Amino acid sequence: MRRVRILDSAQGVQVVVDATAYRSFISNDYLGLASHPALKKALGDAAEHYGTGSGASHLLGGHSRAHQQLEEELAAFTGRDRALLFSTGYMANLGVLTALLHKGDCVLQDKLNHASLLDGGLASGADFRRYLHADIGSLQKHLDRCGERKTLVATDGVFSMDGDIAPLPAIAALCHRHDALLLVDDAHGVGVLGKNGAGSCEHFGLTQGDVPVLMGTLGKALGSFGAFVAGPQDMIEMLIQFARPYIYTTALPPAQAAVTSAALRLLQAESWRREQLQHNIAFFRAQAAERGLALMESNTAIQPLLVGASARVLALDARLRESGFLVGAVRPPTVAEGAARLRITLSAAHSEADMLALLDAVAAALQDTP
Ligand SMILES: *Cc1c(COP(=O)(O)O)cnc(C)c1O
Repeated sequence: MRRVRILDSAQGVQVVVDATAYRSFISNDYLGLASHPALKKALGDAAEHYGTGSGASHLLGGHSRAHQQLEEELAAFTGRDRALLFSTGYMANLGVLTALLHKGDCVLQDKLNHASLLDGGLASGADFRRYLHADIGSLQKHLDRCGERKTLVATDGVFSMDGDIAPLPAIAALCHRHDALLLVDDAHGVGVLGKNGAGSCEHFGLTQGDVPVLMGTLGKALGSFGAFVAGPQDMIEMLIQFARPYIYTTALPPAQAAVTSAALRLLQAESWRREQLQHNIAFFRAQAAERGLALMESNTAIQPLLVGASARVLALDARLRESGFLVGAVRPPTVAEGAARLRITLSAAHSEADMLALLDAVAAALQDTP
């Protein structure tokens, strides 16, 4: 059974969970922004002006100036015509897939895509197929089978349990040749990858022409909450008319939109957090290699250590907690049978001492845990 644990502190390197202090390597707050003073102030200031709740859906009076401004900023930040806010990433994926696809269409998804993409694909009623992970040959075969039907290919930009980056240039080229629409879920790329932090598309230099449907979330590296879909004007207009998870839900609190705007300003003014995170990733991997720890192949903040059996992951997790560390103990069905792992996430806020302490604890736990 999975179990909910109670957090009594802000997100950060030092957290208090179930009344115990830990060093955290479990959060998606990759830049350490979730408790940044400028974001807390933005939340308070905007709440003074707008109050706490949005009061209604976007189309029935809940769309504030703060939401509008954020959508315009997100469009500019990602280099897209227009962006549309959703209350969560799960809802954004459900909304975009069910609005753009219908029975008789074709949807192709990477085998390791996030559950929200898989659920959206199934809910759309389209012919749903999964291609082998990051495998261009497998995608090609499936595209051939879809033939002349309307086809959408969906992939994570950065895979949430593995940390690897999708081969987006090759996928985009293939989609172009087959006249298929490409959707990239960049929940773990936005804020982190690319020169300006605009994500995996910026990392590869891919534009709206290459990746027409870009989805990103705001609750991870941006330290806020919510999600967006960005792309061509007519596609966004279509979502406003037909995406039920956009239409039939209360808009995000306007103050939360203001927090995201403040986070975007910090991203642009202070690139050092992205650089620090890249430094931490390289340092962590080099030190892990010195200790003989075989991390999975990943150059992002997600640094999983493949363990295999669920029971061993749970034993390692318990040992690490005793040593004062929180990591993710990820088991099937979140990952494949026999591929249970410790999911370690790094942040710009971790020091070298934090990372060295974790690595020593992991090495010791592995030795003592058969
Ligand atoms: C977290 C995540 C989501 C869901 O976003 P929420 O805003 O948390 O609902 C979607 N896709 C991926 C790849 C994610 O990691």
